[in-house]
Amino acid sequence: MIDQFGRRIEYARISVTDRCNLRCRYCMPECGVKKIPHDEILTFEDILRVTKIFARLGIRKIRLTGGEPLLRKNLPALIREIKAIYGIEQVTLTTNAVLLERCLLDLFTAEIDGINVSVDTFDEKTFSELTRRNLFEKVMRGLKLLIGKKNVKVNCVPLRGVNEKDILKLTALASENPVDVRFIELMPIGCVVDSQLEGIPTAEIFSLIESHFGKLYPVEKSLLQGPAEYFRAENFIGRIGFIDAIEHKFCATCNRIRLTAEGFLKPCLNFATGLDVKKLLRSNVDDESILQAIERTIYLKPREHFFNRVNELRDERKMYQVGG
Ligand code: SAM
Ligand code: SF4
Repeated sequence: MIDQFGRRIEYARISVTDRCNLRCRYCMPECGVKKIPHDEILTFEDILRVTKIFARLGIRKIRLTGGEPLLRKNLPALIREIKAIYGIEQVTLTTNAVLLERCLLDLFTAEIDGINVSVDTFDEKTFSELTRRNLFEKVMRGLKLLIGKKNVKVNCVPLRGVNEKDILKLTALASENPVDVRFIELMPIGCVVDSQLEGIPTAEIFSLIESHFGKLYPVEKSLLQGPAEYFRAENFIGRIGFIDAIEHKFCATCNRIRLTAEGFLKPCLNFATGLDVKKLLRSNVDDESILQAIERTIYLKPREHFFNRVNELRDERKMYQVGG
């Protein structure tokens, strides 16, 4: 559907859990998250019902995220069922790769359309410091299994003084393999706000990569590919992407909505406004009325994220609660 600013909204990120097996400093507090009672989290039935409504409203692509989505039991079964919904063209997943080794076969059997893995570093010590967990080997094994498969993306949040050395190593991964490596600008959300963490501007990363790999040329992307701008240097097999939310705001072409694990529909990452879909699901409201409420919420999607302004509508939810 088209929102009040003429944007075609066709991509939903659905968070299936807010729990995680890592504690990345920019995303989750060290103590982890307060356990939300089981019945406060959307069931697979709930998710399927909402996704059918999303599909009727023109959503074509679903990304399952979290927290760590692979912690949710029977995720491949959910993937299969979402894929069977009329109108849904792609179901993808974003994961930290800790459980990938165990789950990959089932994900492929469920015909997942793409997997994004978040890998900020190839250094074990940096990994443990950044994620506060010693699960580096598992992540590396999961990543290794994925490389060479179709539609794989590796996401990295570059942080000053933390993983700068990894920028070139990750770029080399895209140079030698059919993989998109994407550098995501650190967003001033949740745990980042009161931390010492500092992101690295995209322009700086771009120059660093060009100084080692030669000129980067822009690459065309398809409509459902989201906010990354893609580039390739001479002889690269994969691509380098930049997601530059703050400097080069992509709000004018934003096509996404988010559903939290607790069933709150967020039309914009940074705004607290939205719709308590779970409340409607649990109060015997019929699908037509839910569709109309969702349609209104999507229509009112804010024009911009306004990251750089303090505003009273700003969402206090952290990244693990909104799915990244
Ligand atoms: N646990 C999964 C993972 O890490 O891939 C999925 C959820 S995680 C919230 C999704 C993405 O959000 C990850 O790639 C992570 O690096 C990114 N992310 C989390 N906090 C961020 C922040 N403050 N700024 C930019 N990206 C962030
Ligand atoms: Fe967990 Fe992903 Fe957040 Fe890291 S970025 S703490 S892996 S949800």
